[in-house]
Amino acid sequence: MGTTIATKEMLALHGGTPVRDSLLPYGRHSIDEDDIRAVVETLRSDWLTTGPKVKEFEEAFAAWVGARYAVSFSSGTGALHGAAFAARIEAGDEAITSPLTFAATANCILYQGGTPIFSDVRPDTLNMDPEFTAKSISPRTKALLPVDYAGHPADLREFLKIADHHGLTVIEDACHSVGAEYRERRVGSISHMTAFSFHAVKHLVTGEGGMVTTNNVSFADRLRKFRSHGIDSDARARQAQGKWYYEMVELGYNYRLSDIACALGLRQLSKLESNLLRRREIAFKYMQAFRDLPELILSVVSDHVVPAWHFYAVRLDLNRLSAGRDEIFRALRAENIGVNVHYVPIHLHPYYKQRFGYGGGEFPVAEAAYEALITLPLFQGMSDQDVNDVIRAVVLVVSYYRR
Ligand SMILES: *Cc1c(COP(=O)(O)O)cnc(C)c1O
Repeated sequence: MGTTIATKEMLALHGGTPVRDSLLPYGRHSIDEDDIRAVVETLRSDWLTTGPKVKEFEEAFAAWVGARYAVSFSSGTGALHGAAFAARIEAGDEAITSPLTFAATANCILYQGGTPIFSDVRPDTLNMDPEFTAKSISPRTKALLPVDYAGHPADLREFLKIADHHGLTVIEDACHSVGAEYRERRVGSISHMTAFSFHAVKHLVTGEGGMVTTNNVSFADRLRKFRSHGIDSDARARQAQGKWYYEMVELGYNYRLSDIACALGLRQLSKLESNLLRRREIAFKYMQAFRDLPELILSVVSDHVVPAWHFYAVRLDLNRLSAGRDEIFRALRAENIGVNVHYVPIHLHPYYKQRFGYGGGEFPVAEAAYEALITLPLFQGMSDQDVNDVIRAVVLVVSYYRR
């Protein structure tokens, strides 16, 4: 299709007609009547907060990913914080994570009084590089927090090996990767703890929400206490037993997910399979269409992995283009393609720069990737026309700036 487009066709950025009339967002939730009915039923029931739907959702989610336990949280950030608590990250401890992620992955270490140490990423998958990580271990290291960037699982076997050797806990940030597979197992059943997000842009949506899965009963117990003030048993169990007594044994928070949200989560979970299929289909179309554009560096999919495709990130080969990422980003936005950038490396945020003295240059692979990254729209509800619009706009803009 690239051959049918003239090399210097007028861009919308310069006054041409945009590829599409309305903005296509980079991500969007899919909610149907079945979802709405489930929420309304819960609103009419006896329980709005911690009732039967929470337990049902947790059990269904644990079974779906193949983990023994699942503990729900009011956000993915809460889930990560809970996992950092369960792993006993404390003041003076270090935990290693990727710089190319959402700030919450590193912030959860700070919440516990620990110090985030960053490990640069691999140039092919943009996931945390196990070799760099191994070199960053110190006597203070308590945990590793690999991130499944864009839905492609990190090198979990390598991280578990490193963790085993040094007595560390692996907390996998799977906020992008629900439903991804790694060596024939679903993400959520592999690491010591795995954190998920059900924020509106993610695959499975409860508005705000999160989950931690684990096979370790003492992690599961600590996670449950932590999300409810550090109190031992929940109100429902106490009421069932007719008891008024409770004990606060740890300092916890209110990170509970409501029955309303869990009713939605249950319905969304039952449709996750088809959501993942559609995302894979779209990613495949992008790969086919962009394979012959040397100006784009595409995501690599490792042999032993089936990604969940939270978004489709491409890197621009800036040596082959006459404009930088920011102008190309603006040109695609002008075509009404809702592109995004994931992520500003965490150590380059002012808070991290000021607090830890980062100046740039510490993690060259992540920093170079950031300069060239553009996220293209990818979500279940995209029509074939939407997908073709993205492809057409990318080919148009890249051809225009081709050197
Ligand atoms: C979305 C996301 C989070 C945080 O999840 P919330 O539910 O928004 O709190 C953490 N890490 C990554 C990589 C994410 O994409």
